[in-house]
Amino acid sequence: MPANVIRGQEWEAERTDDARRLMETLFPIHRSLTGEGVRKSLRILQDYVPFKIGEIASGTSCFDWTVPEEWTVREAYLADPSGNRLVDFHQNNLHLVHYSVPVNAEMGFEELRPHLHSLADLPQAIPYRTSYYERNWGFCLPHEQLLSLDRSATYRVVIDTELKDGSLTYGESLLAGRSPQEYLLSTYCCHPSLANDNLSGLVLWALLLREMSAQPRRNSYRFIVVPETVGAIAYLARNEEAMRRIQGGFVISTVAGPGRFGYKQTFLGDDVIDRVARRTKEELGLDSISYPFDVNGSDERQFSAPHFRIPMGTICKDKYYEYEYYHTSLDNLDFARPEALVQTLRLYLLSLEKLEMNRCYRSRSPKSEPMLGRRGLYPAMGGLIKQKAADRDRDHADRPYAVSEERSVMGNELDAIRWVLFYGDGVTPLLDVAERSGCPMALLHQAAQRLAEADLLEEVLPDGAGS
Ligand code: ZN
Repeated sequence: MPANVIRGQEWEAERTDDARRLMETLFPIHRSLTGEGVRKSLRILQDYVPFKIGEIASGTSCFDWTVPEEWTVREAYLADPSGNRLVDFHQNNLHLVHYSVPVNAEMGFEELRPHLHSLADLPQAIPYRTSYYERNWGFCLPHEQLLSLDRSATYRVVIDTELKDGSLTYGESLLAGRSPQEYLLSTYCCHPSLANDNLSGLVLWALLLREMSAQPRRNSYRFIVVPETVGAIAYLARNEEAMRRIQGGFVISTVAGPGRFGYKQTFLGDDVIDRVARRTKEELGLDSISYPFDVNGSDERQFSAPHFRIPMGTICKDKYYEYEYYHTSLDNLDFARPEALVQTLRLYLLSLEKLEMNRCYRSRSPKSEPMLGRRGLYPAMGGLIKQKAADRDRDHADRPYAVSEERSVMGNELDAIRWVLFYGDGVTPLLDVAERSGCPMALLHQAAQRLAEADLLEEVLPDGAGS
């Protein structure tokens, strides 16, 4: 993997344009657990980055679950006695409770009331509600609109939907690397017009897949996009053996809010996934919230189930549950922004980059430190190193190894060289060296490359890896 981990402004501007275009195109599309909206969304993402779209038929058994029927909405509205549409699915797809069964009836307010959902504490917002596994129907509307309804009137309910055998749609891309170590990058595609949860995750997933597809890789990466819960379970059921070999990964969710970055830990808390995310945060001096593992959340609960136990973390920006607009119409494109999405994309890339750089090396001179000067790896003047170290200490007293490329002066590099040689025992991975030394991992990686070129170090490949 190229060492230019700090990507430039041009890269950032291009990715922000990509994210904005995809977010604006995908936002209005009505997605649910199944259906044409998911297919259409995945096909749009396919034009941006190639991946495979798969289908699992309704009725397929997946462990304890069954793939549900496919749901199609043609029309859905609530009208007053004069025929005025008070809420209309075509105005905002959040108005209809997901998986509502067909209804065509007139009814009084009392009969209608249990089917109306609103939020008293966010009176202008339309909430998002689903009823996937219980046959039901309902409308979601702003609380202030609910209060304005005439309680003595008769209302017309039209829900022209269809539930029939079809399939559950998912996306998948397997990026092979040189090593058999495989990591999982997963997101979900079942939410309608909600921007942070989880259109932002869907778009970041595609941007990350494109970045990772374009560069040489040591590890293998499995990118999947599934409807939440049943989609993850169905995928696990159909790929059971392969999934048991996965080392760890990330569930990409809620990545483009205006608030602070966050990290939800894996169920282990100190897995290599947690450690690369933490190092990334620390090397950037980033302010972020740490969330301990919780069974409530997204698909990490499925991937980390007892039989699979894949440690899954989540790097987020305005985590689900934590922001006021969560699962409401106010989680829109004013709230979730492409600029924020690209900042979070950078954190995912830097974390994956650390997984790529996390190699073991063996020193070819294990009995003593090799003479570096002979090989041009040591400044000719000893005083120079001290001077650079003094500069470094003065300029970066709080963060001595701040990731600023121009600061990778000989002093820092020499430190990195010494740390890498010291741990050149063939069993200590570079992430451990980074944690113990405080040196940025990219600097250690660069030092290891130079030492390997000078024939002072060799990489120890994991079992089964090609050269
Ligand atoms: Zn959600």
